Amino acid sequence: MLPPFPSKGLSAWGEPPQITGSQVLTNPLLNKGTAFTETERDALGLRGLLPPRVFTIEEQLKRTLNSLRRKPDNIEKYIYLTTLQNRNEVLFYRLVLDHIEETVPLIYTPTVGQACLEYGSIYRRPRGMFISLRERGRIAEILRHWPQPGVRLIVVTDGERILGLGDLGALGMGIPVGKLSLYTACAGVHPGYCLPITLDVGTDNLALHAGEAYIGLKEKRVRGAVYDEFIEEFVTAVKTVFPKALLQWEDFGNTNAFRMLSTYRRRILSFNDDIQGTASVALAGFLGALRLTGSTLVQQKLLFLGAGEAGTGIADLYVAAAKAAGLSEADARARCWFVDSKGLLVKHRGDPFPAHKAPYAHDHPLVATLAEAVETLKPTALIGVSGQPATFTQEIVAAMARNHPRPIIFALSNPTSKAECTAEQAYTWSDGRAIFASGSPFPEMTLNGQRHVPGQGNNVYIFPGVGLGALVCEATEVTDTMFLAAAQTLASLVEPADLAVGRVYPPLTKIRDVSLRIATAVAECAHAAGLARLPRPADISADIQSRMFQPIYREYI
Ligand code: NAD
Repeated sequence: MLPPFPSKGLSAWGEPPQITGSQVLTNPLLNKGTAFTETERDALGLRGLLPPRVFTIEEQLKRTLNSLRRKPDNIEKYIYLTTLQNRNEVLFYRLVLDHIEETVPLIYTPTVGQACLEYGSIYRRPRGMFISLRERGRIAEILRHWPQPGVRLIVVTDGERILGLGDLGALGMGIPVGKLSLYTACAGVHPGYCLPITLDVGTDNLALHAGEAYIGLKEKRVRGAVYDEFIEEFVTAVKTVFPKALLQWEDFGNTNAFRMLSTYRRRILSFNDDIQGTASVALAGFLGALRLTGSTLVQQKLLFLGAGEAGTGIADLYVAAAKAAGLSEADARARCWFVDSKGLLVKHRGDPFPAHKAPYAHDHPLVATLAEAVETLKPTALIGVSGQPATFTQEIVAAMARNHPRPIIFALSNPTSKAECTAEQAYTWSDGRAIFASGSPFPEMTLNGQRHVPGQGNNVYIFPGVGLGALVCEATEVTDTMFLAAAQTLASLVEPADLAVGRVYPPLTKIRDVSLRIATAVAECAHAAGLARLPRPADISADIQSRMFQPIYREYI
């Protein structure tokens, strides 16, 4: 069971800290910096190691925020925040939570994309584990090198498909690090439980092989049996060393992502956020949008640009939701259409489809372009998950607005530079009628006197709550029903005031409550399906809340 991590008098693992002096100051989970009290300074041997004035956390926050805001650009802010996190986790999380709308885009998308590109030069100290092909045969032994016992949550990548930026190899480490920071900030999973991992299986990005600052193996990516055996050894090692851990697959290339999800989802507590988390957050936004259009789930026709992990994951969850609303599976799938790099996905197109695309290849003549597909199919919703910027052109957005009074336009590709269109373009080209959401944040705008606040379909609304819910009840599996419940819960938290400005997600400032509600819904699903190892507590929500990490300094004395 997850201990509740009391904030007073005890260290993270329920024991008084055995270490003193400079060791306390260099352990970010114990360090309070200038906030150690006079009594603590005497008891822990800190006299002389700190400047004499004792600060409150509020004073530290003010100073830290000022320093953050003085940094000249987002990557400098990212580096500043990372350094703070490596020094004093409580202060870092308090800052993130108190200024969540300002800090999430710095610790995750869009800044994390730039941070990954520059990871070789901004890398300062290990935060997470690199496990490379060189460690084949000894992965369990390597995992035991991690200094924190009892890891419960692992986010792992092999760096092949980092956001919309492609193969960044070992530089992808920024992603698991960032996602786990969001788990703590947004859902209160104690940082001591979290382990970011990058599997270095080489990279096909030849520019990295040539780069001086590249920190990974300078060799081509392994594929086939060697890759599969490496992953198999990794999963087995995680089960052995951290038997209660939840494994979140992150930013794997789609040829591996789908296979690994289906191979492992019942063998180890795990999910793929790019497929399942994205699906859930997009469906939630879609459900929110339907409250604005006044139409129902079963009346929709969805056209996706991009038929990869995100696109087919969203379609699969839409199908599950439409089935729950009364449609047959065939009818639900018939409402989902895809344009990929070869045009409209139709039967007899001539190219072999991978398994995830096949259910959406319909009987229809070949259509070459997105613009033609919009004209021919007249979709109610256009969803961009292609990683191809500027593909929702003025012509396409205008056509969507001609065909429907409130067209749903989601430009989900990350980072910002890859979005299919900007919020401003979607609103302007549709005369302010588009219901818009994006993967990366866009500023609000006013058009013809109407305020438009774009929703950010950020996975952070979903995965922290889902992971927390699965952890607290010690679920044996993370099911699609749980992601559907998460989407419905998130959509139910959108207030009329949000909808009035076109926002289909709640503001990020409510993220702790959102995560708690989702975790509760997920744990309810696990108990209902007989997938929880722990007995059902009388009040699931109160039980989860009592376990959430709060960024409050503990008192040592
Ligand atoms: P993926 O590599 O699995 O799929 C990309 C798809 O786009 C493939 O089907 C590919 O054929 C298609 N594509 C490529 N070029 C194209 C073109 N010119 N025209 C049409 N289709 C084209 O990647 P993914 O995991 O599905 O992610 C896709 C994008 O979605 C990324 O930019 C990612 O950042 C974004 N994404 C956003 C969210 C979110 O907003 N919450 C979550 C996950 C992924």
